[in-house]
Amino acid sequence: MIKGQNYEKKGSLLYLCVNFMKECSNKVSESVFSALLETLLGGESPGREGWRMLLSGLDESQAARVRDAASAVVRDRFGGGVYVRGLIEISSYCRNNCYYCGLRRSNRHASRYRLTTDDVLGCCREGARLGFGTFVLQGGEDEEQDDDWMEATVRAIHAEFPAQAITLSVGERSREAYRRFREAGADRYLLRHETRNDAHYACLHPAEMSGAHRRDCLRALKELGYQVGAGMMVGSPGQTVDHLLDDIAFLEELRPEMIGMGPFVPAAHTPFARHAAGSVDLTLRLIALMRLRFPDALIPATTALATLDGRGREAGLRAGANVVMPNLSPAAVRGQYSIYDGKASWGSEAAEGLRLLEQELNRMGCHIAYGRGDYPGRDGGPK
Ligand code: SAH
Repeated sequence: MIKGQNYEKKGSLLYLCVNFMKECSNKVSESVFSALLETLLGGESPGREGWRMLLSGLDESQAARVRDAASAVVRDRFGGGVYVRGLIEISSYCRNNCYYCGLRRSNRHASRYRLTTDDVLGCCREGARLGFGTFVLQGGEDEEQDDDWMEATVRAIHAEFPAQAITLSVGERSREAYRRFREAGADRYLLRHETRNDAHYACLHPAEMSGAHRRDCLRALKELGYQVGAGMMVGSPGQTVDHLLDDIAFLEELRPEMIGMGPFVPAAHTPFARHAAGSVDLTLRLIALMRLRFPDALIPATTALATLDGRGREAGLRAGANVVMPNLSPAAVRGQYSIYDGKASWGSEAAEGLRLLEQELNRMGCHIAYGRGDYPGRDGGPK
């Protein structure tokens, strides 16, 4: 490995040579590139080394063709329809201490709130009026919103809105709790695995948390018949290409119905506050590749993408995403659910902005697909 000032000094001869060599060694020939694309379009995995080339060996024109292929696949499967989910952020209290998250319990600067069941029902009423077919309840792991509270809240929503789907994203709970929520009317569960590599997981979380436990939760949720969402942050501190290859292998094994991937965004007053944000381009590449591998998957153009790049959401949808999650939290608390800095929650990221969103989608030849937007395939897609 070449280190030191000369290498780092842009424009120096050594810098240019090293980058030239890197480019040569990374470059994927057109014939290999076509074979990789064909493999994906044929429903097969390109394997670890194939994924490596697709992740880190493409030039800009090849990357654009991957996005175009993904866009064609999503259009073919979903006909330009983009599902909207009303996101209700139910609590900013959390018992966990994830190093990247602004809501971590040690962050004394975080402002904390929790919604009551009535507050949540109020959000759902507004959401139903606006036409949402799915409500997503997301929050920190708030001990006051315990299993009894969650179950009762899900039951109340389901009783009043039997036609709407209910998605939960409230972290790691017992299998029994997941069973009760499901029985009360929950349909889907979002629980990103964050990173499949255990050493990397330990860089991002304190010792009391484990990737293995999170994966156990995901498997339990699958067995209980939830439509399950896994996924990772892109560019989280310490992440390497190999970690992402581990993530892809895990997704191929779990076959989740939903795949949430957003760039890491630094959050003030966390250990990673000064860490660089993740790459928007790499996030788009991953969205496109996962669309090609899992044609039926529900893949959001995440808020983190929209936060880092004003055109991030549109770019996500052009790269194969087919879900957006406008914010339906009460206006008074919106902005307090600050998992990272500058989180977009207004304009077309807001539930009231559905018309703006519709216009934005129409300009891309897409439209809002009203309705529940369940996973259209069977059990997570290709084996
Ligand atoms: N407590 C729930 C919900 C967490 S917030 C749970 O643990 O599942 C939803 C997702 O936001 C997390 O899974 C994580 O992937 C993402 N996230 C948290 N902090 C972030 C940050 N600083 N930058 C980007 N994404 C972040």
